[in-house]
Amino acid sequence: MKIIGIAHATLEFILKVSESSAPQEFAGLLRAEKGIISDIIILPGTESSDRNAVIKLFMMPNISSVGSVHSHPGPNIKPSKADLRLFGKTGSHHIIVGAPYDENSWQCYDADGQVQELPVLEVELGEE
Ligand code: ZN
Repeated sequence: MKIIGIAHATLEFILKVSESSAPQEFAGLLRAEKGIISDIIILPGTESSDRNAVIKLFMMPNISSVGSVHSHPGPNIKPSKADLRLFGKTGSHHIIVGAPYDENSWQCYDADGQVQELPVLEVELGEE
């Protein structure tokens, strides 16, 4: 599936959950509809360290996802080595959110950990 962007409401949700989880991390998988990332599967009980968040993602059952999202407790939003291993396995789009969890404190990476553009789209999210 070609990803054209992320729904604004979904990004806001990610930022809000990241902020309310801090200093614990949260992690989840991204799902897309019609090429727009509009749904997140949040991992229950994500532990406090980056490594744990990533390991929990590895243990997820085989859910179809277009990528992953996780938060970092500080402002550093560069992928760690563990993050990169995860990116290679869970899809093409990977969002890392860092403090202070506003609209400028996130970045999207590709499966190799290279920064990639992810337009934020104003779309109506349909009812499930
Ligand atoms: Zn990380």
